[in-house]
Amino acid sequence: MVARIIPVEPFDLVIFGGTGDLARRKIFPGLYRRLADGQMPAEARLIGAARAEMDDAAFRASIAVALEEFLPAGGLDPAKVAQFLDMISFVQIDATGDAGWSVLKKKMRRDVVHAFYFSVAPSLFEPIAKRLKERGIAGSAARIVVEKPFGHDLDSARALNRNLACYFDEAQIYRIDHYLGKETVQNLMAVRFGNMLFEPLWNSQYIDHIQITVAETVGVGGRGEYYDRVGAMRDMVQNHLLQLLCLIAMEPPARYDPDSVRDEKLKVIRALDSVEPDDIVRGQYAGGPDGPSYLEDVGDAKSRTECFLAMRLGVSNWRWAGTPFYLRTGKRLKARTSEIAIVFKDAPHSIFDVPRGRHSNILSIRLQPNEGMQLGVTIKEPGPGGMRLIDVPLDMSFAEALGERAGEIPDAYERLIMDVIRGNQTLFMRGDEVEAAWAWTDPVIAGWEARGHIPSPYDQGSSGPDDALMLLHRDGRRWREIRP
Ligand code: NAP
Repeated sequence: MVARIIPVEPFDLVIFGGTGDLARRKIFPGLYRRLADGQMPAEARLIGAARAEMDDAAFRASIAVALEEFLPAGGLDPAKVAQFLDMISFVQIDATGDAGWSVLKKKMRRDVVHAFYFSVAPSLFEPIAKRLKERGIAGSAARIVVEKPFGHDLDSARALNRNLACYFDEAQIYRIDHYLGKETVQNLMAVRFGNMLFEPLWNSQYIDHIQITVAETVGVGGRGEYYDRVGAMRDMVQNHLLQLLCLIAMEPPARYDPDSVRDEKLKVIRALDSVEPDDIVRGQYAGGPDGPSYLEDVGDAKSRTECFLAMRLGVSNWRWAGTPFYLRTGKRLKARTSEIAIVFKDAPHSIFDVPRGRHSNILSIRLQPNEGMQLGVTIKEPGPGGMRLIDVPLDMSFAEALGERAGEIPDAYERLIMDVIRGNQTLFMRGDEVEAAWAWTDPVIAGWEARGHIPSPYDQGSSGPDDALMLLHRDGRRWREIRP
């Protein structure tokens, strides 16, 4: 069964913040990979925009350096690099000023798709949207792509939505959550809704609990000042982890189209229980041989911002009542890994002499590294000597299953940008989804702030504070090991 690849029409893509870190690390390298894979039409044009004083040649040279720096060594084809750089130009623009906009307008071609990527601070979203619209640069078919963070709380997210809605329809707005662009995340939907095997078991009758872990080994590094104003709840949980939870918990949409999928995700967010104080663990990494503490990294000995968060969460609907979701994310942990684990219940009755609570059927979905899925099953240990059982994984590492084609799996950003050009919003967050996520997040944060909660210290290279282990122990469960 091979689905048709939908061709990408010729386009003009303007990248505001074209000289910034995200553009250099992800956007331009991703676009190059699409060109190298033959997916980018030869007529595509990429226009960088920023305040820097630069001509086209200098900008192209800086992008050539970024490709060398951020794509794997030996991954560049000189002829294709030359073709790619030829597509690129630069406009000097101040998002809050008047200069440069008429130059940009002249550059935009007729009869091609127009997309504008706002890879800039959120405070510039509205000034750019306003100028694009009022100066007649973006028409009613143009698309805008906005980066995270989409708001700091419900009020600011509502204000952003309101401001963008003054100039663009919801169908033109693409809010990026790059987790949704990951191959395995989409595979989660393929596995759930493309097979008969899982969906009948996908509920609280058969699933004991679900764990979602996004662990990082890095600390806050040079982003300390920014991060300390945000914390793990706003930076990771409100968006990425909740989006993953939604894809696991949602009802089967009637169709795989943007609004059918997003309607179902929205219902999940609205069914989330509020979180009790006992069900949240917040932490900060302590100083150690591997580096300074979180407090030293952010330069504030009294900071109460969490860089580790674990919580137990309920989804109050018929499908999930009684099945907890455990979420965990943090910095400077044991290994860099992102995993969703669906832990099935034990068989109702065991005919073998084995202890209960083994939970041998675990569907584990790895987002990084080594994207893939694994299903734990119980089998008989080979050999004579009676019926001894062992748990073995049915492994589906994409790298192994797909062989050479695994190398072709596009990075999340490049896939999402191509979806923008195709006009497919399925993997982008709708405005009401973002607001619903903040409406759930705000009271949780307000709760710990009102209690004056102080995050617990944890060792670097560990699995987080001991309290986080207790969160599951007291329910008779265990976290999955954080391993690379
Ligand atoms: P950055 O490195 O600070 O780059 C900011 C870009 O905006 C630069 O190109 C800058 O160029 C331009 N800019 C700043 N003020 C401007 C103005 N008044 N008019 C026009 N251009 C202006 O930031 P970044 O890390 O690339 O992040 C960009 C956005 O993506 C932010 O919203 C960030 O939260 C989000 N994001 C970033 C990452 C990441 O990995 N970096 C990941 C997720 C989300 P000039 O100074 O030359 O104008």
